[in-house]
Amino acid sequence: MFDQNNKIEGVVDSTGKKHQAKAVVANCGIPELFNKMIPKRVVPKKFAQKIQKRKTSFSSFVIWLGLNEKLDNIKDYEIDLLHDKNYIYSYNDLDRAGIGVTIYDNLFKGYSEPGKTTLSIMSLSDFEPWKKFEKDYFKGKKELYTKEKERLAEKFIKRVEQRLIPGLSDMIEVIEIGTPLTNIYYTQNPEGAIYGFNRDMPHLKAKTPIKGLYLASAWSHGGGYTPVMMAGREAAKLVLSDI
Ligand SMILES: Cc1cc2nc3c(=O)[nH]c(=O)nc-3n(C[C@H](O)[C@H](O)[C@H](O)COP(=O)(O)OP(=O)(O)OC[C@H]3O[C@@H](n4cnc5c(N)ncnc54)[C@H](O)[C@@H]3O)c2cc1C
Repeated sequence: MFDQNNKIEGVVDSTGKKHQAKAVVANCGIPELFNKMIPKRVVPKKFAQKIQKRKTSFSSFVIWLGLNEKLDNIKDYEIDLLHDKNYIYSYNDLDRAGIGVTIYDNLFKGYSEPGKTTLSIMSLSDFEPWKKFEKDYFKGKKELYTKEKERLAEKFIKRVEQRLIPGLSDMIEVIEIGTPLTNIYYTQNPEGAIYGFNRDMPHLKAKTPIKGLYLASAWSHGGGYTPVMMAGREAAKLVLSDI
């Protein structure tokens, strides 16, 4: 909500309820914020152009597994399995991408029920290989998409089975697979980006040219846990000093 001087007055939630505020900190995707949530008239043209120029960062392909066994022979919790040293960055072709295995029980005692294990197998992913499924996915037509994500998951599981956890396929009790489209569904982030904008451009400032609107999140300060905590801290400090 904005007043006639384009100063922020608060937010409207998804039920239409209005919440008055002197300051609003946006922690959502910045493209969504400026393209859909804020009226165009309040965004200075130069600032809008600056945002439009930016590209999104990588997305992710993740398989979460619940196993009916304890993995007593592996002590590490985060293990990288490079496919081929020339193709570590091949996130456009997940058949050849490097993958990371995280075994949560080795990080946090008692994470799973006794005698069981929870782990994830992950690769970064470009959006490109998933783009062709996007329209159908959001219409609820997921047959081809599901086939592809299951095909890749099977490949990843086989790779982990061959190189790290023999017999993995037979231990699986629960499986969930998340793709860049899953990320869009849950976070609204364009292209399922997990690090906000591509890191080849300088960060945006927490303070925007729109009075009362501040930016936090990976989209303003770069992706990853630490940058987003710093983004929140910076936005909070600014709000406190401004109001
Ligand atoms: C599988 C995976 C592994 C990762 N591994 C690492 C790692 O090892 N180390 C690391 O540093 N980083 C890692 N990252 C990246 C890191 O998780 C992100 O960069 C970071 O969490 C982004 O934080 P954020 O607060 O910007 O966004 P998010 O954590 O996405 O939070 C934004 C929240 O806002 C909600 N939202 C969006 N739009 C709206 C709206 N309009 N109204 C209300 N709510 C809204 C979303 O649903 C979401 O809950 C990983 C990411 C993934 C997906």
